[in-house]
Amino acid sequence: MRLRVLFPAAALCASLASPEGRALPEPARIVRYDIRASLDAERHELLGTETIRWTNPGGVGVGELKLHLYWNAFRNNRSTFFRESGGRLRGDRADEDAGFGSMDVTSITSGGLDLLRHARFEAPDDGNRDDRTLLSVPLPAAVPPGGTVHLEVAWKGRFPKVFARAGYVRDFHMAGQWYPKLAVFEPKGTRRRAEPGWNAHQYHANSEFYADWGDYRVALTVPERFVVGSAGALVSETRTNGKKTLVYEQESIHDFAFTADPRYVVKEAVWDPERDLPAAEVARAARLLGRTEKELRAGFRKVALRYYMQPDHVAQWTRYLDAHRWALTWLGLYAVPYPYAQSSCVDPPEDGMGAAGMEYQTIFTAGTARVLGVWPLTGLRPQEMVVIHEFGHGWWYGLLASNEFEESWMDEGVNSFTEYEMMDRRYGGMVTLPFGARISSFDEERIKVIAAREADRLVTPSWRFADEPSYARNSYARGATAVDQVRRILGEETFWRAFKAYAERWRFDHPTTEDFLDAFRPYAGGRLEPLIRETWYGNGKVDFAVSRVSSREAAPFEGYDDRGKKVAAPKKKDRKAKTSWESTVLLTRTGTIPLPVDVVLTFEDGATWTKSWDGRAPWLRLRATSASRLTKAEVDPGRRIVLDADPWNNARRLEPVRGASAAAKVRAYAVHGVQILLSSLWPLL
Ligand SMILES: [Zn+2]
Repeated sequence: MRLRVLFPAAALCASLASPEGRALPEPARIVRYDIRASLDAERHELLGTETIRWTNPGGVGVGELKLHLYWNAFRNNRSTFFRESGGRLRGDRADEDAGFGSMDVTSITSGGLDLLRHARFEAPDDGNRDDRTLLSVPLPAAVPPGGTVHLEVAWKGRFPKVFARAGYVRDFHMAGQWYPKLAVFEPKGTRRRAEPGWNAHQYHANSEFYADWGDYRVALTVPERFVVGSAGALVSETRTNGKKTLVYEQESIHDFAFTADPRYVVKEAVWDPERDLPAAEVARAARLLGRTEKELRAGFRKVALRYYMQPDHVAQWTRYLDAHRWALTWLGLYAVPYPYAQSSCVDPPEDGMGAAGMEYQTIFTAGTARVLGVWPLTGLRPQEMVVIHEFGHGWWYGLLASNEFEESWMDEGVNSFTEYEMMDRRYGGMVTLPFGARISSFDEERIKVIAAREADRLVTPSWRFADEPSYARNSYARGATAVDQVRRILGEETFWRAFKAYAERWRFDHPTTEDFLDAFRPYAGGRLEPLIRETWYGNGKVDFAVSRVSSREAAPFEGYDDRGKKVAAPKKKDRKAKTSWESTVLLTRTGTIPLPVDVVLTFEDGATWTKSWDGRAPWLRLRATSASRLTKAEVDPGRRIVLDADPWNNARRLEPVRGASAAAKVRAYAVHGVQILLSSLWPLL
């Protein structure tokens, strides 16, 4: 999901490929859903039945199942979601007149036995008795390890008025988390847990989802005039009595969403790696990753791309397409190739932007506004950004299915990191200023991190952050900047090789924070530990500053010499032209994260002196004797400490000549200020 808000008009914020290059993990098939649902578009209701087939992946018998009934988050203003959010999310507000939605399970049976009678709602996170988003279903007999159970579930869902991902407005319907969905039973060792057990949480204001791998077959019945976009591949379509039933199938996913709206204009394209993988990009990746081009190309497959466009946005579909193609290329090279045969992009209406910017597997929602297609707003790229972000989730929530309840940074943070990289590489950032200057997405987002008084750790359950801005800042920009900091410490080659190895190892699995960090630790020799301790597991900060600078002409000898003879200082006019200068620089590290950093001293004759500092001590004093006067001291001139809380104190200049005018001093400071500003502008520096 995308939280970045640009401005009000754009409140946006088959079968699987088997890569020939190297053998990558395949998903465990834990669950199978066979769903039949019909949409009552007038009443905005869904009537559904589903057969859930669950296989116990653990080493112990399991006596109960847990079902997420996510739409009960919108049931009333007593749900945990409403209590936490006040009915608001991402600046969008629930329309309380008609806004409520619900999910009423009317029957659960297994082998003909009624299981609903003993089912009960649970609220493990806050004990809220009014919350109905998590249902525990006791089974008549425990499912043995490796054993399978079938559940037959019937339910009625009411779409909420769209404001938090799912819902309806007019005829537009976005169905996400719309069916009773099994929670994840984690065997011992999964996500490093010591004992097997369910990992199940309520639907919180600031949480997304976590589910297990499986296969889906979904039959949707809708009024004939509706255009449907869905996860999976359409395998059949039948029409009777003004209705049509569309059957979709998809293997090896953990989420299934669809959309229906009679107004959609569908645009289609095919991404063919034979034709669409840019040779220069493959060559660059091969060099950086230390792989052959042949190996990198091996896992790619053709992907059918579909765009479900609002009629007034149709002209913008090619902007979605360009970003979509670039993400298929970049993520395929630096992470793992996209394994599915299709990817669909939903363009919500402007009065349904609560559904914009959300990820599901093989389908995602983007978002634009008509006005964004008009100059000068065409210099902004929220359309490209939202596609790259939401489709990118297909990797960091999708293929590497992290637990978004408990470790939101692993999805939003890693995904924001790859989003900034892709936006900067392809477009030079999200904004083009006059004269072609661009603002890097990394710099744009870093400002949020360094300007904040941080209260939280990156690794915090999503409902336990101090407030919504802290959840958002940590999960997105701070997570991404921390990953960028790891890259700056390790260097490009080492970082990307480890990053790709992480993606390959955890494809179709459930990685944790420690799995991510362990991918980089072997190459860091302990250098990452203070950063990890103070960022992932702390609310630390770092700020390097040049606190004091002085440079004085060395005084000529004066006083008693070795033989006890008194020597007077030479008169000024008798001094030799050649003198030496003694300079002192005091560097300080405030904040709690010691990081290695470079310091550069620049002298009047143009000479420079570079020194590496491990950054461990709270301060460092440098003394230099030189033939020329010190004019500038700067810490981290390469801007490698991306978490530096105040880049404005990173350098000090001495006035150009002794007794310089106030104007010269102002000029010197102004030059320094402009340098810092320019370092944020791309590609000028
Ligand atoms: Zn997101």
